[in-house]
Amino acid sequence: MSDAVVIEDLHKSFGPLEVLTGIDLTVTSGEVVCVIGPSGSGKSTLLRCVNLLESPTRGRIHTLGVEITDPDCELDALRRRIGMVFQQFNLFGHLTVLDNLTIAQRRVLRRTRAEAERIARENLDRVGLGDKAGAYPAHLSGGQQQRVAIARSLSMGPELMLFDEPTSALDPELVGDVLTVMRDLATEGMTMLVVTHEMAFARDVADRVVFMDGGVIVEQGAPAAVLGDPTEERTRTFLRRVL
Ligand code: ADP
Ligand code: MG
Repeated sequence: MSDAVVIEDLHKSFGPLEVLTGIDLTVTSGEVVCVIGPSGSGKSTLLRCVNLLESPTRGRIHTLGVEITDPDCELDALRRRIGMVFQQFNLFGHLTVLDNLTIAQRRVLRRTRAEAERIARENLDRVGLGDKAGAYPAHLSGGQQQRVAIARSLSMGPELMLFDEPTSALDPELVGDVLTVMRDLATEGMTMLVVTHEMAFARDVADRVVFMDGGVIVEQGAPAAVLGDPTEERTRTFLRRVL
């Protein structure tokens, strides 16, 4: 088993504000790691450091075997191998679902239209939206739009998927379909780093749960341990609030 992400002594400040103060975290290939913790604890910043959307103030990160904290690394090439799904879906409103899925495949990966459309349709089927290829995003529910965003990421053939609260903007009744897609991905062996408030998802799907607070990892381990029998008082306090 190789390591998909290795984070060593990661620090990140925004001006005087220290947001991450010494994070060490490894994600093994094929592993699903869920990151939980209160708002403002640095979860999004951590995730964004993994593909260098934020650059660390200190520390080293290897992502998919590339030292991304090395200024000479081939960042564009690496980013093509990483999918990222945010709370906001960021679909192109003027393009059909199919075109949303093919545009980066054609422009970035230089696939032909036929090849890109074949892969796009495969991935739409995978997220249960095979019949929506011709629809425009505005005509889809939030949950459907998020599944399109996931299918768009998958169409690029990522080796690692980063999810930042993918269901937080959705009406409660739309959350389940998105989580089902993520659960299927996990079952298929995708390496996933997932920031989430969905404790049931973390409990059932994660190989490991990481609890962050105040810019550090307070506790991590098997879901049953961290969520069911945490050792740290801060974890217990957080769980009492959300469960
Ligand atoms: P979480 O995702 O756990 O809610 P974030 O990583 O988004 O936490 O934010 C952690 C802290 O960093 C917050 O106090 C937030 O206001 C601050 N922060 C995040 N991004 C920036 C930025 N680009 N500039 C300044 N402060 C930021
Ligand atoms: Mg966040």
